[in-house]
Amino acid sequence: MSFGASPPVPRLPSPVEELRDERIAERGIRLFLKRDDLIHPEIPGNKWRKLKYNLLAAKELGLSTLLTFGGPYSNHLRATAAAGELFGFSTIGVVRGEEHLPLNPSLEQATSRGMRLTYLDRTTYRRKNDEDVIEALRRRYGECYVLPEGGSNPLGVRGCAELPAELDLDFDVICCPVGSGGTLAGIAVGLAVGRRALGFSVLRGGQFLTREVARLQQEASGAVSEAWSIEYDYHFGGFAKSTAELRSFIDDFEDRHKLRLDRVYVAKMMSGIFDLAADSAKLPTGSVVVAVVTGPADD
Ligand SMILES: *Cc1c(COP(=O)(O)O)cnc(C)c1O
Repeated sequence: MSFGASPPVPRLPSPVEELRDERIAERGIRLFLKRDDLIHPEIPGNKWRKLKYNLLAAKELGLSTLLTFGGPYSNHLRATAAAGELFGFSTIGVVRGEEHLPLNPSLEQATSRGMRLTYLDRTTYRRKNDEDVIEALRRRYGECYVLPEGGSNPLGVRGCAELPAELDLDFDVICCPVGSGGTLAGIAVGLAVGRRALGFSVLRGGQFLTREVARLQQEASGAVSEAWSIEYDYHFGGFAKSTAELRSFIDDFEDRHKLRLDRVYVAKMMSGIFDLAADSAKLPTGSVVVAVVTGPADD
């Protein structure tokens, strides 16, 4: 993690590499990694994809301040702070819950990139998209471009929809982790006919995400695509939770492939893919699978 000099500009398209792993190969499956974690050191790849058209929209509207929301460990807050500094926006982060000092490393990094933080108690935070809550924030901070939590809005979906076209390989299934659903919604919007997208919920009891992804697609593109689904059995205890099994999967994966997986999102998806690869009803022999490494490990 870098708190030093200004971060570099995001780099697209992200690289693609084949993962050679006997546990996949023996099933007759090929697995490719779409390395969105390499897009930018401080802006996880999918966060950049979701921010891109939003920043352009803010510029077009002549707004120089971005205001957005997140939990105290939000990757999206950090990413918005870094992108704001990089592209000349002031940033305000509205954090769920009370202030705890000293700041955790995540919020510390956000403030080091110039983000001003403010806090909303949990009850008010639940109503963060309501007009009166937004109005109160605008009165306090002046006109600003308001981004929802996670950056998952129609412009965010549009940015993620660009991902599939960066792949010049003949794949069947593209996989990504699902937190707020914007990334899956976008990837599925951008898919060519005959391909499907498979999301892995990192939330316990995240079944509402099926509705949420459909809603985001409807809002972004005026239609809901059919070519996606979500697996709900790989949350490993819930958001930001982990288990001994997941930790040993991460360590073993690092030993084999020299790549440390982000434990909140990416490792859950990857472990799910390895599990499904053992079930030919889920991932048939001969499948070509792409796993989107949405961001880097932060430990
Ligand atoms: C935020 C995040 C996600 C979740 O993306 P959603 O669009 O919110 O579903 C996945 N992976 C990483 C690394 C993230 O930071």
